Amino acid sequence: MRKNGRTLIEDLKLIRRGMIEFGTFLPRQLRLLFIASLISMIIPYIGIYMTSMVISELSGLRRVSALITYIAVSISLTLLLSVLSAILNKKINVGYNQLFPAHEIRLNEKANAMKYSLLENEKIRALRDEVSGSIDCSGAGMGSLYWDCGSIFNAIISGVISIIILALNVGIEGTTLGFSGSMFSFANSVWGYFVLALVILISAFISSKMTAKIFDVSFDVFLNGAKYNRYSGYYKLEYLSDDKSAKDVRLYHQKSLILKEVLDKCYIPFSKGDKREKDASSMGNGVLLFLSAITGGVVYILVGAKAMNGSIGIGNVLLVYAAVTMLIKALTDFSMTFTDLRNNNEHLIRYFNYVSLDEENASASKTDITGKGEVVVDNVSFKYPGSRNNTLNNVSLKISDGEKVAIVGANGSGKTTLVKLICGLYDVSNGSITIGNIPVSVVFQDFSLLSLPIGNNISAGALCDKAKVWNALEKVGMKERVESFDRKLEQPLFKDYDDGGCDLSGGEAQKIAIARGIYKDSPLFILDEPTAALDPYAEYEIFTKMNEISANKTTIFISHRLYSCKFCDRVIVMDKGQIVQEGTHDELVSIPGKYSEMWNAQANHYTDYNAS
Ligand code: ADP
Repeated sequence: MRKNGRTLIEDLKLIRRGMIEFGTFLPRQLRLLFIASLISMIIPYIGIYMTSMVISELSGLRRVSALITYIAVSISLTLLLSVLSAILNKKINVGYNQLFPAHEIRLNEKANAMKYSLLENEKIRALRDEVSGSIDCSGAGMGSLYWDCGSIFNAIISGVISIIILALNVGIEGTTLGFSGSMFSFANSVWGYFVLALVILISAFISSKMTAKIFDVSFDVFLNGAKYNRYSGYYKLEYLSDDKSAKDVRLYHQKSLILKEVLDKCYIPFSKGDKREKDASSMGNGVLLFLSAITGGVVYILVGAKAMNGSIGIGNVLLVYAAVTMLIKALTDFSMTFTDLRNNNEHLIRYFNYVSLDEENASASKTDITGKGEVVVDNVSFKYPGSRNNTLNNVSLKISDGEKVAIVGANGSGKTTLVKLICGLYDVSNGSITIGNIPVSVVFQDFSLLSLPIGNNISAGALCDKAKVWNALEKVGMKERVESFDRKLEQPLFKDYDDGGCDLSGGEAQKIAIARGIYKDSPLFILDEPTAALDPYAEYEIFTKMNEISANKTTIFISHRLYSCKFCDRVIVMDKGQIVQEGTHDELVSIPGKYSEMWNAQANHYTDYNAS
């Protein structure tokens, strides 16, 4: 029997895999769920069983002591199990709430370990949205697995108890093959059992179809919902609550534009989907109520007729009726929940696809052990995932240990891409990059700092070597500024978690980012537009300290300020993804080519500016 293109066995394997994975989030929780199910399913039978014993006693020997014993045992057992059940249910609900953070942590750990290139991939982002959305918005995936396991346990346990009760109390002796036409004889014939079985099967079948239909609607709504969530999350959390964009929101009166976007693209489609989902589930509930009324009626008639016939003792009527209706409910619940579990595999598949994505160290393109800080880029071509054209074409470059190289070129010529490849953030499409098996210090232009103390921002860890941090701060010209803070290196950045946090200017933040690179003290130091946000004084200060900052290190320096190239041993000029010139600053300014064009453009710009 295939469902959503999967066989029953494949679905069962997925459910099993899901249960094993669930155990890694919340160990022993499924076992707890099973015990709780067992207890909660036994409780109603105690009352029913005791009531039937009491009725039998009243219609028979009428012994007071026996009646008192039945009632006392029933009450104390029910009480004891109810208390136990309440304790377990509390644990189960607490466990369910712990599932959400555990799940989120798992996804974040995966995102951290994942190949960098996958993080930018639109399909992977959509997958992550779906995986997070399935549990966050509808409790599906691991959430549904949890509750469905509980319902399946309930159904199985309740079914087994009902069958045992029926086997002990409705003997098939006296059952006739045919019947004479009266309801009594029909109920006592095999046809009575046949009709009962048919009603049960039809009811279970319709219920499971109904569940599948409701799931289809809610899954369709969910798939779109993940998109709405990302969209509204972007506006609510990233754009509207970000103080940088708050300036633009005010000055460009973006509020009504954003509200319209959020309404059109999130809330209106979301509420339409929500209505579809609610319509489907209330229709489903109506059908289920109707079915239960019909099956209840049929069971009452059959059991009543059997009692009138004398096949069932008066005390057992209630017991048998309850057992049959419970059995029907167990079967219906089982088929509905099992359908739901199979459908829920759609969510689990997405989860497993996400957590099995390639991880960072799976790529071996870059770190063969060579000379200490040497970098060899050999005929490298590279295309971004999803892009049509190569961003880099046949780039070859050898940087010796300790050499300082500047890479220059117009915007979009591929400088940052080359650096990202050297750092191993992407795998090269063709060719190879080899660097010594050493850590790399990189300062990207789009660095990010944490809302943590300055010291930890620079050490990038919980521990920080204060002398080293002060030394790095001195080199970037931030020592005095940090000394002026009461809390010195303990001074938190930004106000997200501490009202006393300080806001930094763009240039100051960039200096902290460079200090972080200096602190790491790796033999290979890469600075990508490190001075873009600095004022001319600060920039000059950094440039003049460049030799000290990068002493004995292989240094790759990307900058639009060609002036900085004077400090470098060699200049590499890139254009449209290729290296077009190489040489020292003095060599390149004196020959016609891209470099002298750029140099003259900058020089003229300043001359024109001065002249005006
Ligand atoms: P540069 O550092 O020289 O300004 P980049 O290396 O940042 O240039 O970009 C080179 C080209 O690659 C640009 O055309 C840019 O649009 C493209 N590019 C950069 N990052 C990505 C990415 N993540 N996905 C697709 N294309 C990208």
